[in-house]
This record gives sequence, C-alpha cells and structure tokens, in this order.
Amino acid sequence: NLTERLSRLVKTMRGQSRITESNVQDMLREVRMALLEADVALPVVRDFIARVKEKSLGAEVVSSLTPGQVLVSIVQKELAATMGEGIADIDLAVQPPAIILMAGLQGAGKTTTTAKLAKHLIEKRKKKVLTVSADVYRPAAIEQLKTVTAQAGAEWFPSTPDQKPRDIALAAIDFAKKHYFDVLLFDTAGRLAIDEVLMAEIKELHALLKPVETLFVVDAMQGQDAVNTAKAFKDALPLTGVVLTKLDGDSRGGAALSVRQITGVPIKFAGVSEKIDGLEVFDAERHAGRVLGMGDIVALVEEVQKGVDIEAAQKLAEKVKSGVDFDFNDFLSQISQMKKMGGLSGLIDKLPTELASKAGQADMGKAERDMRRMEGIICAMTAKERRQPSLLMDGKSKASRKRRIAAGAGVQIQEVNRMLNQFEQMQTMMKKMRGGGLMKMMKRMGG
Ligand code: GDP
Ligand code: MG
Repeated sequence: NLTERLSRLVKTMRGQSRITESNVQDMLREVRMALLEADVALPVVRDFIARVKEKSLGAEVVSSLTPGQVLVSIVQKELAATMGEGIADIDLAVQPPAIILMAGLQGAGKTTTTAKLAKHLIEKRKKKVLTVSADVYRPAAIEQLKTVTAQAGAEWFPSTPDQKPRDIALAAIDFAKKHYFDVLLFDTAGRLAIDEVLMAEIKELHALLKPVETLFVVDAMQGQDAVNTAKAFKDALPLTGVVLTKLDGDSRGGAALSVRQITGVPIKFAGVSEKIDGLEVFDAERHAGRVLGMGDIVALVEEVQKGVDIEAAQKLAEKVKSGVDFDFNDFLSQISQMKKMGGLSGLIDKLPTELASKAGQADMGKAERDMRRMEGIICAMTAKERRQPSLLMDGKSKASRKRRIAAGAGVQIQEVNRMLNQFEQMQTMMKKMRGGGLMKMMKRMGG
C-alpha cells in the first residue's frame, strides 16, 4: 500500500541532502503508482510526472529538510496547481438571463447539479433562477427536475416529452426574459454513451442558447473512462467548466486531474452528496491530498521529523488492522506515540480540515487527561497483565489484581474499572475498523 511504500522511501531519504536523478526516480515511481491507483489516465500521469521531475531537479534542498520532503511539497503543489488552475465561480457577466447549459452522460448528475447550482446562485449570488429540462426522452426526468428545483427554492419552467428540445429552449428563454430571471439553468438529456444523435442535439442547443457557461458534469467514480467522455464533450462543445460529482464516494478522485487536463477548463464545483446542499466550490489543494493520499505522506514526513518510530507505529497499525490481541502494551505504545506527535490536539492540527472539525467537537482536554490516567494505571500492572488483559476482565483473581493496581496507581478502583471498560470498547472497535481508527478512538474517548 501507498503509505507503506512512501514511508520506506522517506526513511531511506533521511540523511540525503540533494535531490538527484536517482533518488527522485524512486520517489516519482511511487507518485506514479499512486496516481494510477487513483485512476488518473496514463498519458496524464506521464505528463504530470515529467513536470514534477523537471521542477524537482532544479529545486534546492534547504538544510533542515530532506529531499523526500522537498519532493513531496513539489508534487503536492503541482497537483493542486494543475487541478486548481483558473477556478472561478459561475460567470454571470452578461445581459440577463445568463444561460447555463448542463452537459454530460446519463447518470452523471446533471439534474441534481442543476438544482444544487440553482440553490448556490440564489443563496450566494442573490439571483433569481429558472430551471428547465430538455430531457424529453425519459418522462421522469422532467418531473425529477421539477422536484429538485422546488427543493432549491428556484422556479421551474414546464416542458413535456412531446416537445422538441429546441422549442423548449426558445420558450424558456422567452419566459426568462419576460419575467426578469437572472439565470436560466438548462438541463439536458443524458447519453448512456457518446451518441452521435444526442451530441448533434446538444450542439444545436448550444448554438441556440448561446450559454455563458457550458458545464460538463462528470461522475468522479468513472475513473479512467472519464477521459473518453471528457474528450467527446470537449470536441463537441466549447466547455467553460467542469462539475465533478459523487466525490462523496470512495473513488480517489483521479478523474479530476484527467478531466482538467483534457478539457482545459477549470473544475468549478464538486458534488459531495445526493442532497440539494451537496455542492462545494472545488478545493484543489484538498483534492490533491485525496488523489495522492498526500495526507499520509505529509503526516509521515512530519513523523520522521519528530522522531516517531515509523516501524513501531506501523507494526501497531498492522496489529490493529488484523484485530488480534490488542493488549495494554500496544495501548501504552499508542499513547506514547501520540505524545511524541504533540498529543491529541497536535494530531488534530495535521488532519484534513474536514476531519479536524469533526474531531474538534470532541473534548480533547478531557480525552488527554483520560489518556494520562490510563497510562498511570497501565504502568501499575505487571508485565503479564499487560500482555493478557483478560486476567483483569475475567480472570479468577481479577478483584485482587484490580485492588493492587488501583493502589499502585493511586486511584480508586472505579477508575480502574472505567479504564478496563474503555479498553474493552476499544478492543472491540479495533476489531471492527480498518484505517481511520485513531479518529474513531479519539471521538469515543472525548465524547
Ligand atoms: P443525470 O442523469 O445526469 O441528470 O443524473 P442525476 O442528476 O439524475 O443523478 C444520477 C444519480 O446520481 C442520482 O441518484 C443522484 O442522486 C446521484 N447523484 C448526483 N450527484 C451526486 C453526488 O454528488 N453525490 C452522490 N452521492 N450522488 C449523486
Ligand atoms: Mg437528468
């Protein structure tokens, strides 16, 4: 896995003072793998790697950093710059109504995004917004737009399946003008695949509508296929922006890089849920972290800096993952690793903003006090008890053991019981989770 590969590299790069042809090659190989794993298209990956290589060979390595760290920051910056280039909100600088044409495959999220955008334009830009659907092929599609438009608090212009898309367009423009709408959002029929007839239709609509924005809506889960779709739409229409939907799914979002490169237009928004408010202005930096698993790399680099023993941390992580025999020694080592990294609050600073705000809801001060107390209690245990937590949970002499430990740690016996309870919960939890476990643990302890 990526984290392991990179941690090895960060380690081997410790002590080297320059970015050289050979050490950059190793690191770039990992970056390349990471991009491919994130479903970025191969030609796009090649291009990207070449740019990073060029930049890194010229880069100076400040004495307090390792070549690995310098390279990581170059990769991250380049990725964010590529994906974030030219990001801007919807262009409305035309004589109203400003028309926005939605294009993309069937199921990409056009209708949903139309309503989300309507809400965005109403709330953030204070616009009067009208939506209309020219999807005359699926009767339910028009109804769907009606429903979501109502949720967005925008107005919907009626159309019917027996109308021609161009007639719908003309009627909607006319209505929007007469009723002084600022924006007309034009939802179109989906294509299951690139289809000549439908492509010709959307081209005709484009010529008729003269939209100020032509947005290509694409499903982030499409991965490699997004490339061909993007190419076809780019060739057919003068796109002005991209909306990347379903980023709440578990794709690594590599489509962002491919689509950005192929269309040559900015990714303006990201769809992050099925709900009407699930639209965000695309955040290239954060997305760069997701594509590369950069959060991991950066965290690892910081760990190296602070002298955390990566090997020990990883052994623990493996153990946790497999859920076997998580004992008090592991618990103790986890607490001490955390201390080295600046405690729980220090860790939170390193998390992606989204997670950090979630963690922020937990009471970190209390969680840290709890941890210290637990540490004290574990220290009062015998080596055997630490290895075999069951001795204290269901062993015959558990009562006397607990009394002894409480006395040794200078706490009430209830404290020991409480700690054992928490430990037990944690054990169960660790068996259930794979990855992201620290967060859950912290939340549990704080809440
Ligand atoms: P269209 O055919 O392009 O109009 O696509 P729709 O707007 O009908 O969306 C297809 C499906 O994807 C629907 O079930 C939507 O609820 C879902 N969808 C759209 N955008 C998102 C998103 O950002 N996240 C999630 N999870 N689902 C989405
Ligand atoms: Mg639709």
